[in-house]
Amino acid sequence: MDHQIDATDGPHRSPGADDGQWTVRQNPKALVTLWCSAGDAGTIGGLVRGDRGTRPGARPGRPVAGRELGVHEVAKNVFCVRGTDVNWLLVREGRDLTLIDSGWLGDVPALERSIRAIGCRPGDVCAVLLTHAHLDHVGGLNHLRERYGVPVHMDPREVPHARREYLEQVRPAALLQRAWRPRVLAWSLRILRAGATRDLAIPHAEPFPHDGPLDLPGRPVPVACHGHTSGHSAYYLPDAGVVATGDALVTGHPTSPVVGPQLLPCYFSHSARDSVAALDSLAELDAGVLVPGHGDPWYGPLSSAVAEARRRAASSEGTRR
Ligand SMILES: [Zn+2]
Repeated sequence: MDHQIDATDGPHRSPGADDGQWTVRQNPKALVTLWCSAGDAGTIGGLVRGDRGTRPGARPGRPVAGRELGVHEVAKNVFCVRGTDVNWLLVREGRDLTLIDSGWLGDVPALERSIRAIGCRPGDVCAVLLTHAHLDHVGGLNHLRERYGVPVHMDPREVPHARREYLEQVRPAALLQRAWRPRVLAWSLRILRAGATRDLAIPHAEPFPHDGPLDLPGRPVPVACHGHTSGHSAYYLPDAGVVATGDALVTGHPTSPVVGPQLLPCYFSHSARDSVAALDSLAELDAGVLVPGHGDPWYGPLSSAVAEARRRAASSEGTRR
């Protein structure tokens, strides 16, 4: 795994950052290139419709069209799309769309295809809502802005992170220590192809225009879940009963054999302790579908998903891998 660090500004640990996590203060000449290589790795596989079933659990649903696309309709007019080991969501209202997260830089062609697969055009995206500014979630933002004028909004605390006034990202050393694991190695090779060539600044990052439900398709309600990053946000879609949890609560990750609601391995998060505490704000939501940043959609009461993640965290299965 190749990486370059120009340390003229001195990468330093921020107070409260956990092992495996660092914060880099922005220096125009000094940022971190975690990965090298670029390319279109946009492999997404089968348009499927959500299948809530009767038992809580994670499942992708049934393919209904376009097997080369990985689009799942998890609730009416709410689509989960699988990019390169990361998900984004499309919320449709007529032809208007809200997009939640945007995959890797190399997922941009797949992002456009997924929008067209549900009968819309990229220019129909009214706004992107960002859960957090890690590279696997911000890849399409600059493209959508430059090509279609699409704005992006996020928690006010995440704005400086997205603009790369600082960077909260897993340390390359933390990954290199684990690179001997086949799962980590295979995942690393995939994300290299996903085009994470350099860190991405999002200069047009803006905070939410106001508190409460946003005037966008789905009437999404931001839910602060600070911990994975300092300004991480989930998005609650009350009419659909869906919550997009980003990396605050996932159901799987390629580096882990665990399937089901869980926190990411602690070295991916800025504060593992705050990540556990942030589950409180999710547990109260009246949602029956969880769409995570990583892993399959999960069907069942959100409180049950949170309880399962808490159990795993408490037993260290979810955070000490
Ligand atoms: Zn993340």
